Amino acid sequence: MLLEVLQRYWGYDGFRPLQEEAMRSVLDGRDSVVVLPTGGGKSLCYQAPAMCLEGLAVVVSPLISLMKDQVDALVSNGIPAAFVNSTQTGSERSRVADDLRGGRIRLLYVSPEKLVQDRMIEFLKDLNVSTFAIDEAHCVSEWGHDFRPEYRQLNLLRENFPTLGLHAYTATATERVREDIVKSLGLRQPDMLVGAFDRPNLIYKVERRKSGLAQVREVLDRHKGESGIIYCTTRADVDKLSCELNGQDFQTLPYHAGMPDDERRRNQESFIEERCDIIVATVAFGMGIDKSNVRFVIHYGMPKALENYQQESGRSGRDGLEAECVLLYSGSEMVRWRNMIGESSPGPAREAAFQSLEAMTGFATGVTCRHKSLVNYFGQDLLADSCGACDVCLGQLDLVEDSLVIGQKILSSIFRQDQRFGSDYTAMVLKGSKEQRVLQNGHDQLSTYGLLADAPQKSIRDWVEQLVGQKFLRKEGEYNVLKITDNGWKLLRGEVTPKLLKPATATKEKRRAAVIADSWDGVDRGLFDSLRDLRRMKAGAMNVPAYIVFSDTTLRDMARRRPTTIAGFHSVKGVGEKKLADFGEEFITHIVHYCQQHAVETDTIPPDPSAKITIVDYEAEEAGPNVSALAAFRLFREGKSVTEVANLMSRATSTVAGYLSDFIRHDGVADPSPWVPAELIPRIEAAVRKHGCDRMRPVFDELNGEVSYELIRPVLDCVRVRMHFGVEQELKVGS
Ligand code: ADP
Ligand code: ZN
Repeated sequence: MLLEVLQRYWGYDGFRPLQEEAMRSVLDGRDSVVVLPTGGGKSLCYQAPAMCLEGLAVVVSPLISLMKDQVDALVSNGIPAAFVNSTQTGSERSRVADDLRGGRIRLLYVSPEKLVQDRMIEFLKDLNVSTFAIDEAHCVSEWGHDFRPEYRQLNLLRENFPTLGLHAYTATATERVREDIVKSLGLRQPDMLVGAFDRPNLIYKVERRKSGLAQVREVLDRHKGESGIIYCTTRADVDKLSCELNGQDFQTLPYHAGMPDDERRRNQESFIEERCDIIVATVAFGMGIDKSNVRFVIHYGMPKALENYQQESGRSGRDGLEAECVLLYSGSEMVRWRNMIGESSPGPAREAAFQSLEAMTGFATGVTCRHKSLVNYFGQDLLADSCGACDVCLGQLDLVEDSLVIGQKILSSIFRQDQRFGSDYTAMVLKGSKEQRVLQNGHDQLSTYGLLADAPQKSIRDWVEQLVGQKFLRKEGEYNVLKITDNGWKLLRGEVTPKLLKPATATKEKRRAAVIADSWDGVDRGLFDSLRDLRRMKAGAMNVPAYIVFSDTTLRDMARRRPTTIAGFHSVKGVGEKKLADFGEEFITHIVHYCQQHAVETDTIPPDPSAKITIVDYEAEEAGPNVSALAAFRLFREGKSVTEVANLMSRATSTVAGYLSDFIRHDGVADPSPWVPAELIPRIEAAVRKHGCDRMRPVFDELNGEVSYELIRPVLDCVRVRMHFGVEQELKVGS
């Protein structure tokens, strides 16, 4: 039933992680808290069940602009939906009310302030409401970064609709916020569905801001013709940067709360409708923008909380395709944020703000895998040591060469100071400071006094923080006293080496070309671009955002398959029945025309990376592919060999060979030729046919031990895939 609805209205052929569980919870009328990262597909968790249940599903959403987009998107898929909020005229509202009374609406979006009015509650009681979905549910908690008082009153729902399921959805929730959500909404033993926070398709990079403009340009140059957001912390920065970029042949538009309303709205629309690729904005921009094909987000300044960074950078790559997130930070803004928070009134909110700022600073100045530090903050961990998709793991940081010695000097000073002091003090001792406190404690007599006199004191302090980040040290108590951890003792014994950044001033310009693997395999770029134009035209005519017509993923798949028939078009990822009816003919005509003109082959069945076919029990395994594996998958899709991938990722070939095997199953690859010499494939296949694909040993023996297991395995895996799809006869085990 659910799958049927997904296919029929959305053109999707499977669930994203936890979606099915979340949907079951709605169908079964339990309560739930669903925490999935941006782009994880939360909306579908309540939208799809709404189409299976009788009656009306009510969605509480705080973002008025998002509401309209969501409703537009639903209607474009053939789902009767509407919204009620303060932007509507009286007559618009009464039309919606009529439709609701007539049972003609399946999904209703309401702002929280409207919902909690007595009249609204009474009105809803007279309708056949099936379930409530509460979007952006972290707004209910003072510990969240986006507390909204009107969310507190949503406990009214439980009182007034005691028999209905309540479902809370959010992308950011620490343990404490989660508990708050359950308590404030009065949820009853909710299903707690917390997804993996990591967004493996995002590539994170952090740089200290130097010549800001040049750093920004470098990123833009990598993303010609693609959509992206540049976030600034002040309005002045927005105006200045936007102007400067426009003066250098980039086309950007500014966006901030100080601009006239209509200009601001126009700029936002230009971005969404793809008349302009780059928007330079304050954080006022983006709430409620769910444009799925944002390919990069640059932070020209550091946000004040790691939650904000996660949310803002997370606006890229919602379609699951690769996107790049670059953070440019400076020391002075860290101080500025600290002062600003210090001026707010004391209480839990301020304490939370300080903690979030601390985490943000740690993320920016640290040298631990960015993916890892983000998910750690949200109480999760990554299996792999290296994600293959951040500056740290890609080896792009400028590290000091003698980091072991420096680390040892710092730790032994801390040890000699009896582990009773914090980072600032430790830096003073190592610098050889004549500060009163140091002299009073007699620490100028320590053998470590002045041991790092050549380095700026600020850098020594940064190194200490980096050692904390890598868990060689931990901070304890109110005064953040430094203690050496077990790991730290290993460092002192020289068994492990820390990563320490070169001092800012000494940083050489060193940049490697970013390794951005992309899912463009088989996509005809020219056709894609012309389909994009067609999409823009259609969207303009219908007065909806471009991505509501089709997402980038869908356009790429179209330009990959190049269908000329209705059936072919229907098999494009993201084409449901309504879209097929609305756009099929016109897009097919366009494709036919383009392909004729450019002599491009049509109706190809792609060895398609993104139209991923879920097979075998891989996805059913609890953990799913880890981040390293996913990074390797990207490279395999580009046709890289095992050795090449092993080198790029600094991994053992045997590990990478394992990833290849997973990859073949994961993507349903039927042809082993990128990884096995062509002349060997028929021989190996013959041996596999003879002996079955349960064990490799008989195959190895059959080939007289002349072919290595590493070559046999991919062939065997591909045979399995073909069997699974019925392309290959079921093989008998043994001969
Ligand atoms: P979130 O609200 O969690 O940020 P969305 O609900 O906006 O995420 O979904 C992100 C994108 O993923 C959307 O373009 C959506 O249509 C798409 N999507 C969601 N679920 C699926 C699925 N099961 N298969 C394919 N695409 C999906
Ligand atoms: Zn990493």
